[in-house]
Amino acid sequence: MPWRPIGDIKMQSQELENKIAALESAAVKAIEEADNLESLENLRLLYLGQKGELTAILRALKDLDKTEKPRVGQLANVVKQKIEAAHEEKRARIYDQGLSSRLKQEAIDVTLPGSRLNCGHAHPLTQLIEEINTIFYSMGFSVAEGPEVETDYYNFDALNTPASHPARDEQDTFYTNIGPSVLLRSQTSNVQIRVMEKQKPPLRIISPGRVYRNEEINARKYPLFHQVEGLLIDRDVTFGQLKGTLEAFIQALFKKPVKVRFRPDFFPFTEPSAELDSQCPFCSGSGCRTCGNRGWLELLGCGMVDPNVLKGVGIDPEEFSGFAFGMGLERLAMLKYDINDIRHFYTNDLRFLEQF
Ligand SMILES: [Zn+2]
Repeated sequence: MPWRPIGDIKMQSQELENKIAALESAAVKAIEEADNLESLENLRLLYLGQKGELTAILRALKDLDKTEKPRVGQLANVVKQKIEAAHEEKRARIYDQGLSSRLKQEAIDVTLPGSRLNCGHAHPLTQLIEEINTIFYSMGFSVAEGPEVETDYYNFDALNTPASHPARDEQDTFYTNIGPSVLLRSQTSNVQIRVMEKQKPPLRIISPGRVYRNEEINARKYPLFHQVEGLLIDRDVTFGQLKGTLEAFIQALFKKPVKVRFRPDFFPFTEPSAELDSQCPFCSGSGCRTCGNRGWLELLGCGMVDPNVLKGVGIDPEEFSGFAFGMGLERLAMLKYDINDIRHFYTNDLRFLEQF
């Protein structure tokens, strides 16, 4: 028989049983004392792992006497199950503790007031455009849009504005270097012409949009501003219908009954033309800061569409007539909200914008 090292010498069964009992109490005690999953896992490897102590004992069983082997083997298995059970029970407990402390940490008190997200909103001019659109929708109008870069034909000629008209002066209009007749529209009236060219009457449109004029910047003037233009073409349209439509609009805008008055005026593309004033809705005509103590506000220009304009787009002025009106949106907003400087609309100052 070859020589065998001391550690390999067969263990007596009693010795093995003692070792199993000692291992059980040491393992159960250590597992009970473990306070986190990592040290618990290390203990599992130490006692139950491939290179663990119990595995070594189970391997040693093969050297036992046949009469002893089943008894000691069963004992070892029972101890193995006990250690496994103790390990599993402790693991669940540590996990639950961790979970409940995490839940405590992350608990949400649903009764606390929510934190509001800072949410943007429409620009005051956009809000006013939408309000005006809504009023005119209710009267059967629809919204039409047109180009801001326009030819002088649509901006002037087709609107009965002859070449000698002072509005065509380069000092008032931004001409582009795209071509001698290409400009930034100085009014939204170009949309009237483009719509009448394409659609046959009856027509009811409003066209809100940006316009450009070569103005010096001050509290009242800005080179970019907005207009809302309106056009109605049908059979037998009268000036009375124009008055009724605009009166209804002004009252819906100021949300109260206000008197309006018409003063004769001149625009190249309407005949007759008028300026509409409304009684100041803020002082009901008695005079205040907004109306400059006049009791009246100048709101918009209007008139019956000039037959020449209709002829130019192929509409027979004998059969059809109509009215048009236009207003400056910034001016309207300044009156409505008592704003004293047009530049507030374009400086993106949140202290201003957040008030709307
Ligand atoms: Zn007033």
